[in-house]
Amino acid sequence: DKMDHINIQQVLEQTVQETVSEAEKGEVASYIPELARQDKRRLGISVCLKDGTLLSAGDAHLPFTLQSISKIFSLMVALCEHGERYVFERVGKEPTGDPFNSIIKLETIKPHKPLNPMINAGAIAVAGMIPGATVEKRLEKIMRLLRKMTGNPELRVNYDVYQSEKQTADRNRALAYFLKESKILSGDVEETLDLYFRHCSIEVTTVEVARLAAILAADGYDIVSGEQLLPREVARICKTFMVTCGMYNASGEFAIDVGIPAKSGVAGGIMASVPQRMGLGVFGPALDEKGNSVAGVKLLQRLSDMWDLSIF
Ligand code: GLU
Repeated sequence: DKMDHINIQQVLEQTVQETVSEAEKGEVASYIPELARQDKRRLGISVCLKDGTLLSAGDAHLPFTLQSISKIFSLMVALCEHGERYVFERVGKEPTGDPFNSIIKLETIKPHKPLNPMINAGAIAVAGMIPGATVEKRLEKIMRLLRKMTGNPELRVNYDVYQSEKQTADRNRALAYFLKESKILSGDVEETLDLYFRHCSIEVTTVEVARLAAILAADGYDIVSGEQLLPREVARICKTFMVTCGMYNASGEFAIDVGIPAKSGVAGGIMASVPQRMGLGVFGPALDEKGNSVAGVKLLQRLSDMWDLSIF
């Protein structure tokens, strides 16, 4: 009720204030030049409660790009288009202790399929599964889902980030061509890479991320529209990947310290879904050495402690 909302709002504001200095311990991502321009001291959070109420504090209205958070939504589209069997014949279900852009296991593990859809190799393989005659039509499938889920028909790709990423993506290109040689990717590799760069560059705010997270928390049901936007099974698979691989090779530590299914991105966003309770969207561009928002993780940890949010 209303009292609760006032209380939650106060906790959010206070916790953001107490946590914002954590950003000093991190650095903004610099391997994508356009991301290096972000102001590292930003911190924002939005919470979408079970009844659809949205509460925000800090820099909740600053736009940032989804980056790896978008991998959840390309996976949703692939699962809805092809079903589980097809998808998991081409990408695995296991976490990796390696960094998100690592290439090493692609060659050393047999069969040569990416270990999971949250590392870059796996997400590029998933992008390859999204059907359509042109890159635009393929992207439209992901955009349509995201627009429906966020309720924002204006959602768009940040063109500068997309261009910046496309021009500096030698490693992602290497992963993609390796996947083609292993027959995991077929068709035009550059087009699939282009789709991947574009979906990573979709621009959001924490408000939208909190809504996305809330729908996942409610097993695909959207309280705002009153619609089941994705099959429960698909929501369940995505949340499981968020637990096992959502925070890169810090997923185990995050599970212990915070205990919420979550997915981060190198722009500094985190989408966190507390099953049956709430969705959280966080933005703080200063990253730790594994690529997670330093202040964002700390903020989630504090809220998890206070509100007893761990699923474990
Ligand atoms: N677009 C980024 C890349 O491919 C996504 C990485 C991330 O957010 O982890 O490097």
